[in-house]
Amino acid sequence: RRAKHERTGVVEWTPKLDTNQRVDLRQLTELRTGLRSGHLRLHYQPLHDAGSRVVHGVEALVRWQHPQRGLLPPGVFLPDAERSDVILELTDWVLAEALRQAAAWHARGCHLPVSVNLPPAYLAQDRAVGTILTLLDLEQVPATMLTVEITETAVLTNQEQVAAQLAQLRARGIRVAIDDFGTGYTSLGLLPQLPIDELKIDRSFVIRMHDSPAHATIIDSVIAIAKALGLTVVAEGVEDEPTARDLATAGVDLLQGFGLNRPQPPDVIPTLPGIPTAPLTPA
Ligand code: C2E
Ligand code: MG
Ligand code: MG
Ligand code: MG
Repeated sequence: RRAKHERTGVVEWTPKLDTNQRVDLRQLTELRTGLRSGHLRLHYQPLHDAGSRVVHGVEALVRWQHPQRGLLPPGVFLPDAERSDVILELTDWVLAEALRQAAAWHARGCHLPVSVNLPPAYLAQDRAVGTILTLLDLEQVPATMLTVEITETAVLTNQEQVAAQLAQLRARGIRVAIDDFGTGYTSLGLLPQLPIDELKIDRSFVIRMHDSPAHATIIDSVIAIAKALGLTVVAEGVEDEPTARDLATAGVDLLQGFGLNRPQPPDVIPTLPGIPTAPLTPA
């Protein structure tokens, strides 16, 4: 689609927009150009085993290396991208890059499963499963090395189609995590039916755990529900050691947070303490 630039009168391409919410079109167009020019980066934040603290995997988190504005966090550009079709192309790139990186680490003897955030619109596409399987194949990464993180909103909108796609991914061995759990509107009664493997307790509960008994109780309840359903429990936003220790005692399986590791560029990851190694694959 084309639109006339308000001030200059220049006719330029504008992305297809979903809603009439306020979107910074200039930045969005720039983002698409940046994406195609190789300006996006992935940083990776480790998920640690709560008991041993060994790194169990990493979550890929997107950044935009902007030529003038520097390294931009996703909060600056993702909300607009998610209101347009730019998010689909961006997610294709994130998946491809994260799997390429996982394969590269593996070739260096570093065995690290990766988690990738999937926005609601991505799984609403019929091609989602096919694309993900093709990318795994291309990079020769086993499906069990990939976890997709989705929000409760993503599961609840288009519930049937999304559930069907998630079930297909899981049938191939890909893991499914519910991100930011506790902030959305999932009815607990729905949980047993959802095709998922993992619950990530939202940071807003974790950071209040020590000054709010109610939040601590909610965390305990989520752990109990997750155990009953056979799900892995991850706590995000673990900022200090007492929190890490108490979450481990409470039964959380995996810990993620600034108190353990901040998101890091890919070359730093193999140098971190607690990175598991795998035998080098023959050249
Ligand atoms: P998320 O998936 O819940 O990722 C965790 C976010 O919390 C990351 O922020 C991470 O840097 C931050 N975080 C981790 N530990 C701590 C902590 O101890 N304290 C605090 N205060 N923050 C912590 P980031 O990288 O800015 O990403 C924000 C959100 O943007 C993500 O939340 C996710 O929803 C979205 N996002 C990031 N990368 C992607 C992506 O590639 N695709 C999509 N669709 N969404 C992404
Ligand atoms: Mg996430
Ligand atoms: Mg999260
Ligand atoms: Mg979060």
